[in-house]
Amino acid sequence: MTLEQQDKQYVLQTYARDYTNFVKGVGSTLYDENGKDYIDFASGIGVNSVGHGNDVLTSALCEQTKNIIHISNLQVIEPQAKLAQRIVELSGYDMGIFFANSGAEANEGAIKIARKYGETKFDNKRYKVITLEHSFHGRTITTVKATGQESFHTPNFSPYPDGFSYEKSIEDVYKAIDDETVAVLIELVQGEGGVQPFEKEEVQKLAAHLKAKDILLIVDEVQTGVYRTGEFLASNLYEIEPDIITLAKGLGGGVPIGAVMTKHKEILSAGDHGSTFGGNYLSSAAGLAVLEVLYPLYDSGVIDETLVYFSQKLKEIVAKYDHLFEKEVGLGLMRGLRARSAEVQGNIIKNAMQEGLIVLKAGRNTVRFLPSITISKNEIDEGFNRFEKTISTL
Ligand SMILES: *Cc1c(COP(=O)(O)O)cnc(C)c1O
Repeated sequence: MTLEQQDKQYVLQTYARDYTNFVKGVGSTLYDENGKDYIDFASGIGVNSVGHGNDVLTSALCEQTKNIIHISNLQVIEPQAKLAQRIVELSGYDMGIFFANSGAEANEGAIKIARKYGETKFDNKRYKVITLEHSFHGRTITTVKATGQESFHTPNFSPYPDGFSYEKSIEDVYKAIDDETVAVLIELVQGEGGVQPFEKEEVQKLAAHLKAKDILLIVDEVQTGVYRTGEFLASNLYEIEPDIITLAKGLGGGVPIGAVMTKHKEILSAGDHGSTFGGNYLSSAAGLAVLEVLYPLYDSGVIDETLVYFSQKLKEIVAKYDHLFEKEVGLGLMRGLRARSAEVQGNIIKNAMQEGLIVLKAGRNTVRFLPSITISKNEIDEGFNRFEKTISTL
């Protein structure tokens, strides 16, 4: 039985999978079973923030697994407390953190905090959450409903929880607010929706308005967090102070972890929320190691250099191949090339694998780049050489 047959027979077919069998990774280079190398411009959809085989991360994990991998959240967990402190310090916000295992779960926690806030803080019940069109917030029944894409709300999984509505733009959010609105949930750079950043002034104005109305601003930083945009959080880059922030993808460097942080530390009390695995020894040790690697790179300006270099490469591609691409989009190391058609996008994703390059799709016609934050200039150069080979035949 081939690997492909085994997968098709025993794994539920919820993904349109590629069957390249990767067996090793070093930095931003992956190797398949035949020894062919690939430049990884996807980092597991923004997860492998310190690349593959990072020494600090792998030794932290080896050490931790020899001691304790897991005990329950009924006991205090030292690396979890340390990681919470580190995240709070790096964020600059006075917040408390709850650890979960994924982005969707972190967003579920955010919605629960908002719902309880709306139940307990006002005379009338407030429960409505406004999100934006083209957003993506997860795959659980509630976060799929929070996702502002009609195609996700198929009757197959209905009924969905009430209280979610979607607006076309930030401007439209103002009109949608009523006296039952408890929160607005946004990504500062829409990832899955097409790598689309919002304007800083527009977001700051919204944040001020929500604050004045005592409506919570929830920022979904599952993709934008942990230096993806060049700052620790995109909220830092936008210079706003959200009520609730969610993290996941890049935080564990590949070990599953999610986090919801809020300045409303008193809202949830014992018994309100929980997780068996969330923030256990293993995932917390991973988070600590990732931050130990990334903070010095941020502090010394290396991350800034990397993102400027990456951006320059994208600009060169757009200038040289303007028959294929409209423009480059995104922020930091969360980037995209807006292709002139969905067909161009599809062909690039397909051909890139042949050339030894991994890139991603986003939205209808965007080719997405989410390299590891630690990617080297040589790997960027080689990746773009391969990208040019990929598109030269289109
Ligand atoms: C990936 C993503 C999620 C979902 O995260 P999972 O870990 O897959 O549950 C939620 N929000 C945003 C913005 C994401 O990019």
